[in-house]
Amino acid sequence: MKITVVGCGYVGLVSGACFASLGNQVICVDVDAKKVAMLKKGRSPIYEQGLEGLIQDSLRTKRIEFTTDLGSATRRSDVIFIAVGTPPKPNGDADLSYIENVTRVVAKEIKNSYKLIVEKSTVPVQTGLWIKATLARHARKNAPFDVASNPEFLREGSAVSDFLNPDRIIVGTESKKAREIMHDLYRPLKAPILFTDIKSAEIIKHASNSFLAAKISFINAISNICEAAKADVEQVAAGMGLDHRIGKEFLSAGIGFGGSCFPKDLSAFIYISNKLGYDFKLLKVVEEINEEQKKIFVKKIRKAAGDLRSKTVAVLGLAFKPNTDDMRCAPSVDIISALKQQGAKIRCYDPHAIPKAKTVLKGVTYCQDSYSCCEGSDFAVILTEWHEFKELDLKRVKTLLKQRLLFDGRNIYEPERMKKLGLRYISIGRASEGR
Ligand code: NAD
Repeated sequence: MKITVVGCGYVGLVSGACFASLGNQVICVDVDAKKVAMLKKGRSPIYEQGLEGLIQDSLRTKRIEFTTDLGSATRRSDVIFIAVGTPPKPNGDADLSYIENVTRVVAKEIKNSYKLIVEKSTVPVQTGLWIKATLARHARKNAPFDVASNPEFLREGSAVSDFLNPDRIIVGTESKKAREIMHDLYRPLKAPILFTDIKSAEIIKHASNSFLAAKISFINAISNICEAAKADVEQVAAGMGLDHRIGKEFLSAGIGFGGSCFPKDLSAFIYISNKLGYDFKLLKVVEEINEEQKKIFVKKIRKAAGDLRSKTVAVLGLAFKPNTDDMRCAPSVDIISALKQQGAKIRCYDPHAIPKAKTVLKGVTYCQDSYSCCEGSDFAVILTEWHEFKELDLKRVKTLLKQRLLFDGRNIYEPERMKKLGLRYISIGRASEGR
């Protein structure tokens, strides 16, 4: 199939590269000329396992091309995926202006041949209707097109593998033709495809992300009860997770969720629910608990480490989660800012996120590895559960930290082991040391 994917970000680029690897002819479009120039040379502007290899293979076989020219890409394609950003506005609503810009250009290029325009970006319910109306307004009369909704569920950090091995594919359509095209396109993936109407597909995405965010806030709330009662949230989560109705995923207590999706999708879902006449109180509390969890962690640091004005803190992990370089809404940003406000000096290290961190975190010292980060610091704080932190030589870390104190916002070590090592260890919701 001839496909255009608009937006070369985490979703668009991964989708484009994967569609090309499945044998389609793909044009990836972005307004960012620098990104496009990098991609033409086979270099990925984002860190995602396996992505650069896929791009290079498809460039070699001429299955993929990169351009800033959306008009020409649209003319040469049958299916146009919109995968541009939908960032939050200050009032929580999703900013659909990027989608609108794309839609207008695409509309002008629909001449005699049918085009299927697919919303892949995460959007509030009823956006499909609005895209259809926008296309109709800007295209010539009776231009042949359909709109479909195909929300994406990939996770940053395992995006290529998630795209190629999804639990399910959701496709919202209004016509048999659109359904058949989407069916053919996804047939090679051998995953269940659920066809719905467009509005239901849009809600499935928001509802799924909100549900997962709620699960995280739930276990974080439980972690606070565990600390107060001197119980162990890891044991509680293991016990809960064995119930197949609950499941063990997303039951890791920590410093809260971040990233470009959960916070923005929650606020957009709350906003659209309100607009539709329903006050989604549950999700407001999910947000509240998430914000509170970062503050509780900073309080714990302050209580155990003492006055922070003369202290240097080694921060290990900046990305909002491991295996990605994405810093959008990373809890590290708020936590570091709170520590700095209390007078602490920050040294930090992340295996992949430092280039992106430099654009959002100023006035901190970036280090080359965990050990140089800890050297001369009073104590360390783990904010992202990168695998390499799990394998640190903790005896060495202990000798490098003046206070022999380690805060773990992701529960990556066993408290017993730390006790034996002689490291004072404070984690989340475990009897090691409470608030
Ligand atoms: P991103 O910011 O990484 O990428 C968006 C890209 O779109 C950027 O490269 C930007 O330059 C480009 N762009 C903006 N306007 C454009 C235009 N008019 N024409 C061409 N390109 C344009 O965003 P992302 O993380 O890939 O997210 C995209 C959408 O997918 C969002 O709605 C997001 O909620 C959703 N989503 C994201 C994830 C994720 O894990 N990141 C997962 C599922 C869904």
